[in-house]
Amino acid sequence: MSLVLDRVVQIQPRVVRPLPRPTDVRVGVWHAPAVIAENHFVYKSLSNWAFNVAVGCSHACRFCYVPSAATIKQGPKLAEYGVKDPDAEWGDYVLLRPWNEQKFLASLRSAEKTPPKQLKADGNRAIIYCSTTDPYQVIRHPDSARQRELAAHARFLVRRSLELIRDQSTLNVRILTRSPLARADFDLFKSFGKRLVFGVSLPTLRNDLAKVYEPKAPAPSQRLAALRAAKEAGLHVYVALAPTYPECDEADLRATLQAVAELDPITTFHEPINIRAENVARIEAQAKVMGVRLRTEVFATRESWQDYAVSALHTVSELARELGIEKHLHLWPDKSLGSRSLADRMPNPGKYLNRLEHWWHRVSEWPK
Ligand code: SF4
Repeated sequence: MSLVLDRVVQIQPRVVRPLPRPTDVRVGVWHAPAVIAENHFVYKSLSNWAFNVAVGCSHACRFCYVPSAATIKQGPKLAEYGVKDPDAEWGDYVLLRPWNEQKFLASLRSAEKTPPKQLKADGNRAIIYCSTTDPYQVIRHPDSARQRELAAHARFLVRRSLELIRDQSTLNVRILTRSPLARADFDLFKSFGKRLVFGVSLPTLRNDLAKVYEPKAPAPSQRLAALRAAKEAGLHVYVALAPTYPECDEADLRATLQAVAELDPITTFHEPINIRAENVARIEAQAKVMGVRLRTEVFATRESWQDYAVSALHTVSELARELGIEKHLHLWPDKSLGSRSLADRMPNPGKYLNRLEHWWHRVSEWPK
């Protein structure tokens, strides 16, 4: 094990915590209701639409790509809620969307009647829960009564909307979470039959490492237990090793993929960390406060990031082959990895570019 990883293992709970105390968290209700909206995933093959329960996310993943979009689109509105810098403060605010059943049903009908030829083929006619937040996050509020009220509202948003989708449409649902709280809704998921797939983001099995990159998300061990429980409950499960960190070496990736292989998921997605907005600065700040040294040098230049990303994608691909799960592997290489200058550094540029095209246009599995 490298020195870098040793430092990560030695994290002590008494080090200065970068996380806000509950009283610092901007938690409340957003002005716009929760509806089904078209999403704009590029080459992910996750869904055609998204249902997002909140603006913000209490899991506070340091690499998260969402705040760049939040900064651009919702910065002025977030300022009214006391959020000065939506990117730097990511993880400190959770604004649950209100429920308006008429508006939700209108959005459901609009999605339902969309002609298939107008839909991206890789979306599987599915709605993802969620694309810009987590559907099963812990709501923290300094007032315990208010906290219970908000937590109940968050749960209502998920359950009521799912019931309406199940009973009043033919659309599919993709759940994606980092939280074992989803276990409470397995009965509801089961009632969808083949119309619902349940997935968990599991970049590593190492709880200590995840604590650095995803400081307030439930530990990977809890997520793996939730996946196993979902499998036992008869749900259609998938896994997202997303994103794996620079510290996820071959041994770590093998351990994660071995555990994943035992679940026989319908799809295993993977991506490394892509550089988005200020996410590298967030990762570096977290490491500094926790007193650990991470391999953030891989983000220093375009070339060093490309080397890390290509290496991680290649390693996962090889390990999936070794473990016999390559058929259902779905890599998410960033579009920028298709640059001519990078391809020319490969032993076989044509083959490399063809592989990227394969992954970018792959349609993920859906239960038959
Ligand atoms: S759970 Fe998802 S949305 Fe929430 S902080 Fe982590 S990556 Fe971002």
